[in-house]
Amino acid sequence: MTDKQARRIAEFIAPLRVEPGSKVDLARDFDPRYRARLRKRDSTELLRTGVSLLAEYQSRLAAQDTYGVLLCLQALDAGGKDGTIRHVMSGVNPQGVRVSSFKVPSAEELDHDYLWRYARQLPARGEIGIFNRSHYEEVLVVRVHPENLDRQRLPEDARGRGVWKRRYREINDWERHLCDNGFPVVKIFLNLSKEEQRTRFLKRIDLPEKNWKFSAADIRERAHWDEYQRAFSEMLSATSTSWAPWYVVPADRKWFARICAAAVLAHTLIELDPRYPEVGKAARKELLAAKRQLEGEAPEGAERDPYAAEHGD
Ligand code: ATP
Ligand code: MG
Repeated sequence: MTDKQARRIAEFIAPLRVEPGSKVDLARDFDPRYRARLRKRDSTELLRTGVSLLAEYQSRLAAQDTYGVLLCLQALDAGGKDGTIRHVMSGVNPQGVRVSSFKVPSAEELDHDYLWRYARQLPARGEIGIFNRSHYEEVLVVRVHPENLDRQRLPEDARGRGVWKRRYREINDWERHLCDNGFPVVKIFLNLSKEEQRTRFLKRIDLPEKNWKFSAADIRERAHWDEYQRAFSEMLSATSTSWAPWYVVPADRKWFARICAAAVLAHTLIELDPRYPEVGKAARKELLAAKRQLEGEAPEGAERDPYAAEHGD
């Protein structure tokens, strides 16, 4: 990774970042069809580069075992979360990645504070954790459908006016705590237009092999489009922080969304700059002793060190 490449990635994602403290109006500020003048025919190559970059950094992240990265993916239905995860993570070692999807909370989950179930799925050091939907549902679907809040059985004074402001603060504080302790939080909102959602739903209905992806609930949620846009705008304004900024990724073109998501994650890893641990003096001595022992075990006629012989060491 050269400085120039790192700079290009930073410049590429800059227009997607929600400036901390700014007031977002999604429809005005972010175009779901933006494509940074890229062409689809260049996308395969670009994504391939991004994917191999991620693989390299993830391997270093795991070896260093100091930081864990949490990637939160939010979107409206048919926004492309699943496809983004599949493509962007296609090159990384599955042992180092943990994907968690969050659905309607279970009875057990409702018996705890609202952040409990998300905290349980956090990545360990050395891992990349992906949240397919995340703690942000607690200020999105729960806000658009207040009966979800009733089910959380909060004490009276924790659920009155000001509950959303308080949740924004609690989420910001929680993320700050994570970042300060070695767990940077990367937040991506896949920003889909209403018309593209309509097209994707129709495709799911028209193609039999996609029918399973469609549910009547999707249409019911679509009827709340404007409320969701408002909830997203307010959430982005309140929770894009210097330690964990939001990136609004244009999602009407799947190929572009995937490149953006890879670039945002790559940017975080580049900034972390995880390194393979260096072997100290004592460990090096041990390595050399083991090498001598293995060389001594070479059978008649075999190279003492076949690897070194082949690689001209
Ligand atoms: P797919 O792309 O496969 O549809 P999905 O993430 O939409 O994936 P679903 O099983 O369709 O998964 O939906 C999960 C549902 O759970 C969503 O409608 C979402 O709003 C809801 N949900 C998630 N978190 C919460 C929460 N904290 N409270 C209430 N509902 C929630
Ligand atoms: Mg769904």
